[in-house]
Amino acid sequence: MEAKIKDCSGLAKTPNLVNNEKIYYSCLVIKYNDMGFRQERDLALTDQAIYNIKKGSVQRRIPYEKLESITVSKMSSEFVLHIKDEHDYRYLSYDHRTVVIEMILYIMCKVKKLCSVFKIYYVDMVNLDTVMTTHAKYKEKTIIRPKESDATLVDLDKFEEEEQKENNRKTALKVRTTMMFNKNKKDNAELSLNDFELLKVLGKGAFGKVILAQKLDNKKLYAIKILKKKDILEQDQLEHTKAEKAILQHVNHPFVVGIEYAFQTPEKVYFVLEFMSGGELFQHLRSFKRFSEDQARFYAACITLGIGHLHNKNYIYRDLKLENLLLDDQGYAKLTDFGLAKSIKAEEKATTFCGTPEYLSPEVILSKGHNRPADWWALGILIYEMIYGVPAFYSSNPQQMYKKIVREEVVFKQAISISPEGKDIILQLLQKDPAKRLGSTNDSLEIISHPWFKPLDMSKLFLRQLKAPFIPKTQGDDWILNFDSEFTNEKPRDSHVTVTEEELKSFADQFNDMNYNKDTDPDAFHD
Ligand code: AMP
Repeated sequence: MEAKIKDCSGLAKTPNLVNNEKIYYSCLVIKYNDMGFRQERDLALTDQAIYNIKKGSVQRRIPYEKLESITVSKMSSEFVLHIKDEHDYRYLSYDHRTVVIEMILYIMCKVKKLCSVFKIYYVDMVNLDTVMTTHAKYKEKTIIRPKESDATLVDLDKFEEEEQKENNRKTALKVRTTMMFNKNKKDNAELSLNDFELLKVLGKGAFGKVILAQKLDNKKLYAIKILKKKDILEQDQLEHTKAEKAILQHVNHPFVVGIEYAFQTPEKVYFVLEFMSGGELFQHLRSFKRFSEDQARFYAACITLGIGHLHNKNYIYRDLKLENLLLDDQGYAKLTDFGLAKSIKAEEKATTFCGTPEYLSPEVILSKGHNRPADWWALGILIYEMIYGVPAFYSSNPQQMYKKIVREEVVFKQAISISPEGKDIILQLLQKDPAKRLGSTNDSLEIISHPWFKPLDMSKLFLRQLKAPFIPKTQGDDWILNFDSEFTNEKPRDSHVTVTEEELKSFADQFNDMNYNKDTDPDAFHD
């Protein structure tokens, strides 16, 4: 366990501490007062004492020598600090309890060498008010201290051993990590996963997971996409992963999810991405059932500008679908997941059969060779889906669906009203012949000039000066509601992968050209 020395920025005001004590950790917690009412307080742990601080003014200083034990609820986020001959402190903290307790342990054992007299009680109680002593003048009650049998004495040797193990693990990780990309080139930081605190699992893709993480130095939140090299190779996705990294680092656009850093260890690849706290557009459409034309127009405009930018950079996206559109905290949509994107000139033809069945264009299905218009076909499917709640051509049987895509005309259900311009843009995007499709001559410019987009001021949209039609809830912990609890309930950890020496050697041969190389850096990621 390593001391996470945090600055004082969590405190409302810098308090007067005794003799310039060093602050190891500070955070806002809920404290219960003598009457059982909740109060917001700053808790600061220095090298000498625990401070209870109210708006910058120190209410109480408890030297570690007075801390006898801590009771920790196994059923809630409460914990009580038991203070020798004085009244106890009962706290509640969802976010900070683990770190506070770890930090107190660290200081008690390593700094103050008080481990041998210190106990921690883990109790099966939600509410800890009965294990806390308080001023008798407010409450007359029998205080029951936790049972001796529930106590864990802190074992200094074990504590040190664990700390050593953790330090070794971090050092090893640092040594084994190589930088692949850093958006801020001036800062030559050599980062590894050690520089982030993993907070929550956000989702899972085909070859790994995406974890919400906080960068320890500047507290910024990121979504880290962790890919296992073994899975990438087993599923023949090496070139796609390389293309994804290249695109992410070469593209810088308000409607494309940005990358800040990328690094790799011998077993894994890490992309540190902008955190899109609004979650997938897919989830929001499921709860709205259908979007209004205005709402659909707003997202379609973001997507058209994003895809147009990729096309200008000579990439085709090939995986436009609701699941790959994420919302930021202001409700703007951005493209993510470039695993299927391909670098291709406008006059060339790609031939790989890839994408998601519902969104495949006739030319992809018929293997006629495809290019930029295939993305605009998918845009047509998506606009239809946003307005009608289902993709334009759907069958649970993919072969039937492909038949419909290739042969049938799109059906506009009478029950759902749509403007003539809305109908027209869908029909023009779902034109089976790619050469006649909207966007085939002048790409995104042709699309945003369609009358359906007239109500939107595109320059304002690009500058993000428009109010989005729907602002996802992202304040405080609310962002979590935008992600699937199947993932967010999972423990966020960078799992271990077992690989043989032989595999490691092959990974090195195949992935090392992704590393950052000053000499060959084309400096292309600044537009
Ligand atoms: P992917 O592997 O890119 O398909 O990502 C899997 C899931 O993780 C997505 O469907 C999102 O729910 C989530 N996710 C991916 N990237 C981000 C991001 N930048 N911000 C927030 N969530 C993300």
